[in-house]
Amino acid sequence: MTGRPIVIVGAGLAGLRTAEELRRAGYSGGLVLVGDEPRLPYDRPPLSKQFVRGETDDTTLRPAEFFTEKDIEVRLGVAATGVDTAERRLLLADGTRLDYDRLVVATGLRPKRIPGLPEASGVHVLRSHEDAVALRDGSAGARRAVVVGAGFIGCEVAASLHAGGIRVTLVEPQPAPLAAALGEQVGQLVGRLHRDEGIDLRCGVGMDSLVVEDDAVRGVRLSDGSEVPADLVVIGVGSVPVTEWLAESGIPLAERQAGGGVLADETGRTSVEGVWAVGDVAAWRHDAGGHKRVEHWTNAGEQAQLLAAALLGAEAPAAARVPYVWSDQHDLKIQVLGTPAAADEVRIVEDDGRKFVAHYFADGSLTAVVGLGKTGAVMKMRAKLAN
Ligand code: FAD
Repeated sequence: MTGRPIVIVGAGLAGLRTAEELRRAGYSGGLVLVGDEPRLPYDRPPLSKQFVRGETDDTTLRPAEFFTEKDIEVRLGVAATGVDTAERRLLLADGTRLDYDRLVVATGLRPKRIPGLPEASGVHVLRSHEDAVALRDGSAGARRAVVVGAGFIGCEVAASLHAGGIRVTLVEPQPAPLAAALGEQVGQLVGRLHRDEGIDLRCGVGMDSLVVEDDAVRGVRLSDGSEVPADLVVIGVGSVPVTEWLAESGIPLAERQAGGGVLADETGRTSVEGVWAVGDVAAWRHDAGGHKRVEHWTNAGEQAQLLAAALLGAEAPAAARVPYVWSDQHDLKIQVLGTPAAADEVRIVEDDGRKFVAHYFADGSLTAVVGLGKTGAVMKMRAKLAN
C-alpha cells in the first residue's frame, strides 16, 4: 500500500495531535486530516468558559501555515460517510473516495439529545464552536437560565452564565453535581460552591418538559412538579460517540449500553487491519481489563502519542501516566489526578468551607486525588499515584 497516505478522520484535538505526533516521530509520508466542521482544529475547553463569557472568540489550535509547514493536507467541511476496509478506501459526503494505507478514527462525540423535546429558540447544547456562538449570542439578552445536567460541562456553563449576570438554576437528577464522575461525597462539596456563589442548584430532580410559547422557551417543568421560568435552557446530559458512519464497515464498536465507541487495544489498534482509533470516540483496552472511553483533553494528546509510536512500530513512550482532568468553575479549578471510582473510599483531607482536597482509596491503595482550588496539594500527589 505504499504511496497511500495515513488518513485521520476527525479534525479535533485527537486528530490534530495524532498528525503532529506522526510527524514528530519521523513519519514523512502522506498525511490527510478530514474534518466535517468548516474550521481548522480548535480547542473545546474554553467554549464553556472564556468563550461563553465573551473573553475570547478564537480557540484555533494551529494556524493554517502550520499544516503547510508540516505537509499535512487538511480537508475541511466534508464528512466521512463510510469505509471499505478491504479496499482501504474512505467514502466522503461529497462523493469522493480517499484511499488510505492506515486510517485513524478520531470523530469525537456529539451531545445526547432528550427525545421528544419540542423545537424552540433559546434551547442549546454545547459541543462545537457553532454551538458556542449560538449560546453566547443567546445569552446576551437572557435573564434566567436553566442548565439541565450538572456534569463538568453543565457546571461550567452554569458558572459562566452566572458570571454574566444571569440567574441560573442547575438541575441534576443525581444527589449531587459531578456525582457520576467524582462520587456523591465530593459532588456535595462542589454543589456547596455553586450554592454559595448564588446558583439555584436542584439535585434529585430531572427535567420533565419544556414550557414553550410562540416557538421560544419560557421555562422548564421538573420531575417534582415545579416549574422554573427561563429564557435560556442549556441541555448538558452527556454525549455519545460519533460512530454511525462506521455502522457498515465491520470495524468493531462497543455496545451502546457500555458507552459505545470504537474498540481498540491499549495503543489504539482495532482488530481490522490498518484501522486505529483515538480520543473521545475510542474505547481503548485497559490494564485492568475491559475497554474504556475517556472524554477528556489530556487523554486525547497522550493517546495520540502512544498511537503514533505503535503505528510506526516505534518504542512506546515510557513515562508513567497519571490521568489528569481539570474543570474551571466560578473562580476555582477542580483537578482530578488518577481514576476515581464510585466504589472508592473517600477521605476529605482538607476543607476550608470552600476549597477542599479529597483522596480516594480502593483496597487501601490511593487511586485518585481531587481538589478544588488546591493546585499545590493535588499536584504534589502525582508521584504517589504514578507508583
Ligand atoms: P472532538 O474534539 O469532538 O473532535 C472530533 C472531530 O471530528 C469534530 O470536529 C467532529 O465534528 C469531527 N467529526 C465527527 N464525525 C466526523 C465525520 N464523519 N467525518 C469527519 N469529521 C467528523 N476536557 C478537560 O479535560 N477539561 C476541560 O475543561 C474540558 N472542557 C470542555 C468543554 C467543552 C465545552 C467540551 C465540548 C469539551 C471539554 N473537554 C474538557 C473535553 C475535551 O475537549 C475533549 O476530550 C477533546 O475535545 C476530545 O478531542 P477529540 O478530537 O477526541 O474529539
